[in-house]
Amino acid sequence: MADVSVNGRRYRRPERPTVVICFDGCDPEYIRRGVADGVLPTIASFQNSGFYAIADSVVPSFTNPNNASIVTGVPPAVHGISGNYYLDRATGEERMITDASLMRCGTILAAMADAGVKTAAVTAKDKLRLMLARGLEGINFSSEHADRATPAHNGIGEVEAMVGRPKPDQYSGDLSLYVLDAGLRLLERKAATLLYLSLSDFIQHAHAPGTPEADAFNRAVDQRIAAMAVAGAIVGVVADHGMNDKSRPGGEPNVVFLQEELNGRFGENAVRVICPITDPFVRHHGALGSFVRVYARKATDLEALMAASRALPGVEAVLDGPAAARRFGLPPDLEGDFVVLGDAGTVIGASRGEHDLTGLAGHRLRSHGGLGEQKVPFMVSRKLRSDWAPAKGTRALRNFDIFDAVLNGVEPSKA
Ligand SMILES: [Zn+2]
Repeated sequence: MADVSVNGRRYRRPERPTVVICFDGCDPEYIRRGVADGVLPTIASFQNSGFYAIADSVVPSFTNPNNASIVTGVPPAVHGISGNYYLDRATGEERMITDASLMRCGTILAAMADAGVKTAAVTAKDKLRLMLARGLEGINFSSEHADRATPAHNGIGEVEAMVGRPKPDQYSGDLSLYVLDAGLRLLERKAATLLYLSLSDFIQHAHAPGTPEADAFNRAVDQRIAAMAVAGAIVGVVADHGMNDKSRPGGEPNVVFLQEELNGRFGENAVRVICPITDPFVRHHGALGSFVRVYARKATDLEALMAASRALPGVEAVLDGPAAARRFGLPPDLEGDFVVLGDAGTVIGASRGEHDLTGLAGHRLRSHGGLGEQKVPFMVSRKLRSDWAPAKGTRALRNFDIFDAVLNGVEPSKA
């Protein structure tokens, strides 16, 4: 059977059930602590008898750009998703990326389905499903809307009956476990040969590695990964981004309100700061991440604005739009005039009034978006061939190499 070509990369069709999991917000520290503490026996076994490495995610280290890269196998410069939110320069409007309309290329999932491979995409949140299932003739649903899935729209109905429990609360760790349980049922029913299961980072935003809540969640994920391997699947797991504590010692969020700072110095409306992590459905990070785009009213101010941003404590990097696009592989036409990245302990906001921090509900702010969250775990249940290119060290391993790893890189089975 011919290989399937997508976005300039070739993929073998799966010979056996193959699962890729996006373990949302799984910072490598969760794996390190979890393995050391005996919380992650399955992942520990992958480290010993499969493949385990640290890969680079896409910067901005946010959910949507990385999920889009994982399912397309290419950086945002090709697929066009560089944040959850962007400023439409033509209209001056801030727009949310809620569906597939901004995706500029096809996905591995859609191409495999077109080639006759039974393919399924299951996500925690429905808006991510809308993006990832673009063009997919196969099963696609979210745990958020599990009760609404119909064969006509989602390639499957009666999801709650299949999983054996009603859809979970949108703000719960179970939203992710439900995705994995649904994937297991699809494997058992042989309803899909290639599965993409994308979780949510609700737990990681609130709970640090080694806490009881993080351990309980990660143990539950590990058990489900084990069940998939037992069911005969090749399992690949990556994260979309890491996660760091972004609070001051006293517990208050460590925020640079960049729009306030710059407008205070250069005059009202000198800049508009767009926070591409902004997400009206997510209340646990107050729309605060470590990567923002800045739009200047007058281009002549650019150098001075960038210099002032660079001088702020907690700012790790400031790049003009074209330089950011080159360095991070982003679509130049969607870049700001410049971008500002907070360091591992700092988030960048716009102005105080735009960030509702009441959803933090007493826990320390943990977030992502910058270079401090670029490193992610990359693991496969089976050994990879020594000649699989990204494993040879000839180029950086990216999280969006995971479909290449599970489809092209796994050592042939002896069975
Ligand atoms: Zn995420």
